[in-house]
Amino acid sequence: MGKVEMEKILRCAEVSGSACAFVARGKTLDEILQQAGKHATEVHKLQVTPELVEAVKKAVKEA
Ligand SMILES: [Zn+2]
Repeated sequence: MGKVEMEKILRCAEVSGSACAFVARGKTLDEILQQAGKHATEVHKLQVTPELVEAVKKAVKEA
């Protein structure tokens, strides 16, 4: 099996329920959470709560 590095993606729309087109990509969950957290606070004016982190984790998919 050739590919070792799996990319993960997160579509904001799946977490926020809005039509937001933001997509976070990264190799690790931490990278995704960092990008999603920044996006959530800057664009959606949300606080990064444990609930939000859980929702993000559930919505992350292997690309
Ligand atoms: Zn968004």
